[in-house]
Amino acid sequence: MTRQDLAAKIVATCRAMNAAGINQGSAGNVSARFAAGFLITPTGMPYERLTAQDIVLLDLDGDTHDARKPSSEWRMHRDIYTSRPEAGAVLHAHSTFATALSCLRLDIPAFHYMVAVAGGRDIRCADYALFGTQELSDAMLAALEGRRACLLGTHGMICFDDDLERVLKLGIEVETLAKQYWHARQAGDPVILSDAQMDAVLEKFAGYGQRD
Ligand SMILES: [Zn+2]
Repeated sequence: MTRQDLAAKIVATCRAMNAAGINQGSAGNVSARFAAGFLITPTGMPYERLTAQDIVLLDLDGDTHDARKPSSEWRMHRDIYTSRPEAGAVLHAHSTFATALSCLRLDIPAFHYMVAVAGGRDIRCADYALFGTQELSDAMLAALEGRRACLLGTHGMICFDDDLERVLKLGIEVETLAKQYWHARQAGDPVILSDAQMDAVLEKFAGYGQRD
């Protein structure tokens, strides 16, 4: 795929985040692995005005030859690409329910079997750190161990997958799970599936080519 085509897909993914209601203002950011680095949304541009020409190409040191500045959260994207070779696309959002849970510093436990879409028995919440810092990225990597998604303490959520289509689907699913968990907690204490029950789900997901 050419840079132009992939950049256009990133813009389409951003618009789809808006349509799905998982983006707040220009807080979210999206990237896709490209060449020896990755393409990422620019900082502070509303998605309605975004074109493929605004998407920034960064190398894995975070350097660019482009005029526009990348998202202030480029470090989290970079660190996922360098530490998780299977990652092809990354999505970060301040979606309402994932963010609300992150403000309570709650992991999403196995209250529903679909939690396994993130790759394990729960979706962890990372410790808080200032946005845009290496400290935040390090906290994120710890929470992502063995997972494709995590909450970011008092901030939002981040996830990665093979490509832009899949990462959008995963981002929407994580927000849906956060919303369901939020609502279940309002009515009582959700029953948490056992490790054995979740392992059976994970095995079935893997066996059936899962997430589709
Ligand atoms: Zn953010």
